[in-house]
Amino acid sequence: MGYQVLSRKWRPQRFEDVVGQKHVTSTLQNAIEQDRIAHAYLFTGPRGIGKTTTARILAKYLNCQNPQDLNPCNECKNCEEITAGRSFDVLEIDGASNRGIDNIRELREVVKYPPSDGNYRIYIVDEVHMLTKEAFNALLKTLEEPPSHVIFIFATTEPEAVLPTIVSRTQRFDFKRIPLQKIIGLLRTICEAEGIQISDGALTLIARKADGSMRDAESLLDQVISFAGSDIPDESVATILGIVDYDLYIRLHSVLHERDPSGAFGILNEVLRAGYDLSEFLAGLADFWRNLLVLNATGQPDLLEIPETYHERFQSVAGEYEERDLLRLLNLTLSAQHQFRDVRNQRVFLENFLLKLVHFDSSVRIEELLSGGGASGVEGMSGTSSGTASATPKRGRQSRGGTGRNIGQKKTRVTGERHQTTPEPEADQPEENSGSANDTSNAGDPSGGNSLSLEEFQTSWEEFSEHVKREKTMLGQFLTECEPVNVSGKVLEVLFDRTLKFHMNWVRERSDEVEALIDDYFGRTVRLKCKAGDTGRTDKRTREEDAEQDPITRAIIDHFDGEIIR
Ligand SMILES: [Zn+2]
Repeated sequence: MGYQVLSRKWRPQRFEDVVGQKHVTSTLQNAIEQDRIAHAYLFTGPRGIGKTTTARILAKYLNCQNPQDLNPCNECKNCEEITAGRSFDVLEIDGASNRGIDNIRELREVVKYPPSDGNYRIYIVDEVHMLTKEAFNALLKTLEEPPSHVIFIFATTEPEAVLPTIVSRTQRFDFKRIPLQKIIGLLRTICEAEGIQISDGALTLIARKADGSMRDAESLLDQVISFAGSDIPDESVATILGIVDYDLYIRLHSVLHERDPSGAFGILNEVLRAGYDLSEFLAGLADFWRNLLVLNATGQPDLLEIPETYHERFQSVAGEYEERDLLRLLNLTLSAQHQFRDVRNQRVFLENFLLKLVHFDSSVRIEELLSGGGASGVEGMSGTSSGTASATPKRGRQSRGGTGRNIGQKKTRVTGERHQTTPEPEADQPEENSGSANDTSNAGDPSGGNSLSLEEFQTSWEEFSEHVKREKTMLGQFLTECEPVNVSGKVLEVLFDRTLKFHMNWVRERSDEVEALIDDYFGRTVRLKCKAGDTGRTDKRTREEDAEQDPITRAIIDHFDGEIIR
């Protein structure tokens, strides 16, 4: 005999074995004990929690030749036939696929005939709410005068979609979502019986993913077993189910959004109970913010290393944040990660940390802090963020910060040559502005506008990037990651490490903007050329160190730590 899926193999055959629905099963047992059998039952509740299973047990009991202790014997011919789905007296009808009036008319015909072997003809109609109105009405006629040997058991996930006239003719039982601990308990029983080695943490993951449905839990366990065999490591459960962090973090996001400290503590409890490594939890949270940040900046979920099924949810979560808020949340989390190693009481530390996140305010004021208190315009930009004096050569006619111009403002400029890729000849003469009579960027100082050397760009690049960062954090950050390597005519070439191609492309797409910023800052009209290559940075980076060594996050730590935190 081949492999039998767990949900079938472990399907309860007695009322007592139905998990988490004692309020239903014992009421049914009391009723049958007193011989008060209804002609129609309505079982409601979410999918996979035992409605159909209970219906079958009831059907079996009613037709059992030798019922015992208010349960079917599961041994007589009738019981065996019903268990195997071969009984002529118990018919299961799927309301979703037999919706029409014809099916119900047919049903009305067959109900007239007495049962062949058992006491009753029992019709189990699953997803009864899916029936059409006409079919409902036809069904109602049968229900108004049911033959004494006929019993209907309707099951539905949407009781409100069932006609009230139908509901009123049934005895209704509301099944409940199965509590996490009960699902874990049953999974544990199954694993022990099947000789499966698996940790409680892993079972918790499965149970949580199943979201109250025993059937889902069992089929998830099936998946895990077929992938990992009988000795199941925790990591493979997380990997196979692809759930751990994402669901948890999305829920954490929700409670933070609602400023719900008890919700946040509840999640922390779950994490502790599930036996997660707490530093993993923090690392995962940093990843989460970082993913949102990338989504927020690019709108391209394909860039993230998350399962496709999460793309939509991540995108909608990302939409709820400002880029700068995500930066700050990321920073807070990274700081916490750093401190975490030395913390004695990890739980208290994490509770404090989560409280901090719950009371996290939108970072509007952070920018004010960063720009030295002056929130408007560029007044605050004459120094670097660390307060050192400016050493930037002031070339050209514009001194930076003196124009009152917002940094994001773009200039009209000649773009006719943008797509040339070959280096241009050394331009000792004033640049040509043939395309635009209004572009006067070098009109006042033509020679000065062209005299900036590579060295001067290199010397001031960091400061320039910091300057940009204050208004445009992401762009400024990416600019700190490249360095000017060549000036040729009007072309300024900057080099990114080959590991940072994504950042390079991001900057390249904003060349116009960067060129305008360079013009503002250096007083020099250039055409930006971005290229990727080997900068020696690659060796230092390993995947494990990503969170800390990643230049963006690293710089964000440095940047914010020095400026805001503490
Ligand atoms: Zn029996």
